Amino acid sequence: MQILTGLTVAVMGGDAREVTLVEYLAEVGATVKTYGLPVKGPNIVTCPEPEECLIGVQALILPVPGVNEQMELSSAYLKVKPIINEELLSLLPAGTPVLVGVARKPLRELLEKHALDFVELMQLDEVAILNAIPSAEGAVQMAMERMPITIHGAKAMVLGFGRTGQTLAQLLENMYAHTTVVARDSAQLARAYAMGLKVLHFQELIDYLRDVDVIFNTIPAPVINGEILQRLPSATLIIDLASAPGGTDFGKARELGIEAVLAPGLPGKVAPKTAGMILSRVVPGILLQKMGH
Ligand code: NAP
Repeated sequence: MQILTGLTVAVMGGDAREVTLVEYLAEVGATVKTYGLPVKGPNIVTCPEPEECLIGVQALILPVPGVNEQMELSSAYLKVKPIINEELLSLLPAGTPVLVGVARKPLRELLEKHALDFVELMQLDEVAILNAIPSAEGAVQMAMERMPITIHGAKAMVLGFGRTGQTLAQLLENMYAHTTVVARDSAQLARAYAMGLKVLHFQELIDYLRDVDVIFNTIPAPVINGEILQRLPSATLIIDLASAPGGTDFGKARELGIEAVLAPGLPGKVAPKTAGMILSRVVPGILLQKMGH
């Protein structure tokens, strides 16, 4: 269905996820101006300069990771990454929708300063819940690659029972890992119990660390601290999914000889096509809503 006919959108930077998204937006009728993406086809216009990409568009889509601390556009394909600055954003009229996966503080401030109407896609439940599927699979893949034992029968802990923790715990349980969910919220613990999972309140965790093969952390706070690490068997593997800097004291883990791995951006790494399709499911609706349709 050509639901986006008449709409011109810029997609700047990104990786295979944005390639999938551009193809989809063009397929549903949008004219898509791209910068730094190897994608061609009907309705897709490749721009040699970022400035050109922004002229005459009704919305801008930035890559899932947005920009780095230096405001460089995230890109898997560009050798020289353009800086997203005032000059560039001033090409967009105030109120223009800007869709980005994650908007770190400097980008958020700049978008606010230019009165651009930005949406952080990764904050939306419909994106985060679906992204939990490739994230969970990727986390399990990382554990399988690093452990000398199978997931089946492994003693696994999942810290946090939000959108990612729920899907991950369910996947582990379905693979016959002995899965314990650790959370601080009694409703989340009740939900985990109802799903047949073992549960621990966060305050009890310290007493249950003697016999764990793998811990998956989804809590974006410093929860796996020195006190916890000291009680873990040194063979325990920690896969930390929480956004940077993660929830683990990695220095202390190294000191104790515990393998702890920060695992950012799993959907884009393990299943870029799926991750791009997840974006494709939600972005057209957001664009239509912003355009008042
Ligand atoms: P979420 O739905 O908000 O869930 C977060 C969980 O952490 C909830 O159970 C929350 O419990 C708990 N929590 C938060 N702060 C806590 C604290 N100080 N102490 C104890 N528990 C705490 O978030 P999500 O969508 O699952 O995402 C979780 C993290 O994973 C985020 O940092 C996200 O960016 C990251 N992530 C990473 C990947 C990847 O590829 N590595 C993929 C997806 C998400 P309460 O409700 O009690 O606060």
